[in-house]
Amino acid sequence: MQLEHLGDWRRTHTCGGLRADQADGAARLCGWVHRTRDHGGVLFLDLRDRHGLTQVVFHPGRVPQAMLESARSLRHEFVVAIEGVVALRPDAMRNANLPTGEIELIASDLRILNDSQTPPFLIEDDPSASEDLRLEYRFVDLRRPDLASVLGLRHRVVLTARRHLDAQGFWEIETPMLVRPTPEGARDYLVPSRVHPGKFYALPQSPQLYKQILMVSGMDRYFQIARCLRDEDLRADRQPEHTQIDIEMSFVGEEDVQTLVEGMFAEIFRSQMGVELELPFPRLAYVEAMNRYGSDKPDLRFELPIVDAADAVRGSGFQVFEQALSSGGAVKALRIEGGGALSRKDQDELEALAKTFGAKGLARAKVTAAGLDGGIAKFLTPEVQARLIAACGARDGDLIALVADRWDIVVRALGALRSRLGQAWLKSRPADAAKWRFLWVTEFPVFEKDPETGTFAPAHHMFTMPRDEDLASLESDPERVRGKLYDLVLNGVELGSGSIRIHRRDIQEAVMRVVGVSAEDAERKFGFLLKAFQYGAPPHGGIGLGLDRLIMLLAGRTSLRDTIAFPKTTSAASLMDGCPSEVDPAELRELNLQQSLHPGRRPNPAGADRADG
Ligand code: ASP
Repeated sequence: MQLEHLGDWRRTHTCGGLRADQADGAARLCGWVHRTRDHGGVLFLDLRDRHGLTQVVFHPGRVPQAMLESARSLRHEFVVAIEGVVALRPDAMRNANLPTGEIELIASDLRILNDSQTPPFLIEDDPSASEDLRLEYRFVDLRRPDLASVLGLRHRVVLTARRHLDAQGFWEIETPMLVRPTPEGARDYLVPSRVHPGKFYALPQSPQLYKQILMVSGMDRYFQIARCLRDEDLRADRQPEHTQIDIEMSFVGEEDVQTLVEGMFAEIFRSQMGVELELPFPRLAYVEAMNRYGSDKPDLRFELPIVDAADAVRGSGFQVFEQALSSGGAVKALRIEGGGALSRKDQDELEALAKTFGAKGLARAKVTAAGLDGGIAKFLTPEVQARLIAACGARDGDLIALVADRWDIVVRALGALRSRLGQAWLKSRPADAAKWRFLWVTEFPVFEKDPETGTFAPAHHMFTMPRDEDLASLESDPERVRGKLYDLVLNGVELGSGSIRIHRRDIQEAVMRVVGVSAEDAERKFGFLLKAFQYGAPPHGGIGLGLDRLIMLLAGRTSLRDTIAFPKTTSAASLMDGCPSEVDPAELRELNLQQSLHPGRRPNPAGADRADG
């Protein structure tokens, strides 16, 4: 086949651009051959680019025979430029599902710009190919309109965010990719320095320290569409690199950051989804969220609240409840509407779920007109039963499920049940499932205590300012210190976390002491931040919002991979370019990493095996 040059041919329109009012006009289109249909002489060709699809017709009488033969030889994904005249399609041939469906291009000239091997799968919205194959051939996969449209949405969301933040006086400032380790609690990706043998850069887990220092520098309002790299054990919804809309601002309190973010989301939803969000988003303190929904990122598209049953069952004599309450634990319940009809198997499944959160069991009983029936009913007097039914607001035919244990086990176990039941409920309520329910969860504890070792770790990161009223007990009673800390949740997905930051060296050092960072370590790891705090650091705060997750929700996807042009698999590999990959031993030698190479072992990029440390 003879390939031709594009030469001086330029597109007059994209493949999605022609409409009926352009009929009789000349047009030139460029794109990929989506499919051809040979109708006994007349050849129909669907030409595709990222903008759309246009039907092109080669009529034997309108083009030379040789050109018709060339057109007939075109295969899937060949790249062509076609010149012709726009014609209205006959009424019966109009395609209402296609934006260009009223017209077709009657070809008069053709240039074949490139051929293509048979693609490993067809460009269809619902490909049957495995995801691994699609990731290996991502360049073909991205031609699928369904996938390309997500990248388009992503672009527009980022643009809207940029415009909004610009209008609010924010500057987009890039922070470095080769950094000192940043403390988001994950493992760092390390980059060996060639120039400084034995030393390493880290790839940023987030711009956290740098954006705080920008506030010290007086930049006042910063944002960045920032890549964050975390060497975590991957789960289905994680990527080793993710993108945040990263924001920091000076002289503000929690409300200011929240209001800014709400305004930005309102604009994104208005412009991209045609949805008018109700502002402000509701706020719920962490403890309330846990008590009511058993989760710090509850899905509010359904209510299904957890009920405190302590008062109802106190003094019941039922050992399981008495024990939990006397040891400072909790007894809480979930009313499962109509759950009396749940099979034994379904109930056992719910119990198994509760057990994965540490619950010893799931106490339960059916609600009847006469009181409770079955399960734990026999252990409870009619009065206790009546109190429990009233506390749950339960009705005949419902099931009451209870967990009695340590508070955190109780709320998490019932929270998991609530979530499972709620998601099932949403399946039959498309109108509710389609709602957008935002929530700010606030007043998180600053520290998490390890139940085994009794040591404290930062709940978010260690730069969070404790609440003014809790500052006095920072070191004496860390467990009860709440932070100026807020998470943004949408439909049960955590979109981002932020906080008002510590801007004083003394408070920062106190927090570091609580989490067991020695003065020496603090100096070594964060000395530059502590130093900056001594040169006039303003009060400041911000947030990092997960862009990939946001796009996933907006596009109605369930996989983050669909929102990223070149994603990694769950084992952090890129199937298209085959990374991570071995490198040339000479390169390793240059990086002083040669000693980490053992026969049969992969190179250790951290250089942990280096004899010289
Ligand atoms: N750096 C934080 C994170 O990546 C977000 C923030 O506190 O602004 O989670």
